[in-house]
Amino acid sequence: MFNIDKAYIDGSFVTPKGLETADLYNPSTEEKIGTVRLGGLEDAREAIAAAKRAFPAFSRTTKAERIETLKGLNAAVAARVSDLTEAMALEYGAPQTFTRFAIPHAASSFLTMADVLKDYDFEQQMGRARVVMQPSGVAAAITPWNSNIGFITSKLATAIAAGTTIVIKPSEMSAIQTQILTECLHEAGLPKGVFNIVNGLGNVVGAELSRHPDIAKVTFTGSTAVGREILRSGADTFKRVTLELGGKGPNIILDDADLNATIPAVLRMGFINSGQACIAGTRILAPAHRLDDVLTKLKQEIETFKVGAPDDPDAMIGPMVSRKQYDRVQSYIELGTQEGASLLTGGLGRPAGLDRGWFTRPTIFTNVDNQMRIAREEIFGPVLSVIAYSDDAEAVSIANDTPYGLQAYLHGTDASRMQALADRLDSGRVVINGAPHEPLAPFGGFKQSGIGREYGVFGLEAFLEPKAIIA
Ligand code: NAD
Repeated sequence: MFNIDKAYIDGSFVTPKGLETADLYNPSTEEKIGTVRLGGLEDAREAIAAAKRAFPAFSRTTKAERIETLKGLNAAVAARVSDLTEAMALEYGAPQTFTRFAIPHAASSFLTMADVLKDYDFEQQMGRARVVMQPSGVAAAITPWNSNIGFITSKLATAIAAGTTIVIKPSEMSAIQTQILTECLHEAGLPKGVFNIVNGLGNVVGAELSRHPDIAKVTFTGSTAVGREILRSGADTFKRVTLELGGKGPNIILDDADLNATIPAVLRMGFINSGQACIAGTRILAPAHRLDDVLTKLKQEIETFKVGAPDDPDAMIGPMVSRKQYDRVQSYIELGTQEGASLLTGGLGRPAGLDRGWFTRPTIFTNVDNQMRIAREEIFGPVLSVIAYSDDAEAVSIANDTPYGLQAYLHGTDASRMQALADRLDSGRVVINGAPHEPLAPFGGFKQSGIGREYGVFGLEAFLEPKAIIA
């Protein structure tokens, strides 16, 4: 049994003053695997005070010093990739097909930011003004349970690069991963108070971070509903807020697509992270005159998407993270049928042979209208909708007819046509033919998928204030 009973404040592991605990579960077996002690208001305030004390000295460190710090953090996290992978499998049920990419990517955030920093100019001349990019003040990061480590490392790496100190509130559901990561970060020997990590409930620790007057900037990844609350809480003190929220990504199959290559890529992006991903391409847009072929191929290909626990190296889809998430996904599958969509494959209940664990059947609905709730709301599970379109103009119109705009996918053979279509999509990112992730490019959403951008120079500047000195 894991007993995670420490917060990390002012350079030390300390017992939180909060008295509440939360239970941790293995979603593949539904067994309780430990408890986490939750920080309270006092812990949040102590962490903020520590970050505030550390800010003046840290904000004056040089670029070269911060690059060295980032390299040290990278080495410390890289040394424990296998422990982090095990923890992510245990408390999250993440399949190896996901962790193989996700954990090394998380560790590499520090090196990527070091590269961005190397080429970044904190000062430039604009007319008569010397314009200086100054660290924005103490930052807070609030992260969700899906891919917890990656969100913490990318937000921390950016704060360090910018010269800001930070208080991090991870999801309490990822406490084992957070504990290992905190041990790595502690090993790297940063000055005390530069980063602080407090487990706790969103409406206690998260809420305090998003309204406290000593926090200048909040970077949040999570649901659109909570993002809205964070924006409101920060309004009184005009916090700089970056929000990475939900998505309902269009996964567009063009009429010239080679279906043998395309359908596996469509499903990979639809079911990424067992469907528990903001970037999942959950609306499959198919040309009406090729619909039958697309459906046949989808049905054939989905058989190769094995559902299973993380100890199965071939599993592509793991369990839902919690009972609550399992129930939520089931209720959307029920809703799809009530709304008049047809099941191509999947449906209610668990996959055959998996009687324990919060596993759901990978499900694809056809006869979906883009106005149905299953096509408009983020389900956050392996449930996809196929929507037919008649021509490119209609594909673009359906793709853009959503409250979200995080990541879209185009599949086809004509590169210049896809570039032109990409220009017409209202989406923070457009991925062509399953291209790999680009950590230097901005990441974030149009519309209700968020505010601001992370990664690369855009991410760095979100932690900086421009100051014009005019002589
Ligand atoms: P969530 O919004 O419920 O929680 C996210 C974090 O916010 C948690 O740490 C939680 O404790 C905290 N929180 C909750 N209430 C709060 C409040 N009132 N004030 C401050 N903090 C509060 O999200 P989740 O269920 O953990 O994660 C799933 C959601 O995250 C999905 O909607 C998904 O799309 C989104 N997400 C977005 C991205 C992205 O980059 N755009 C990436 C991953 C996940």
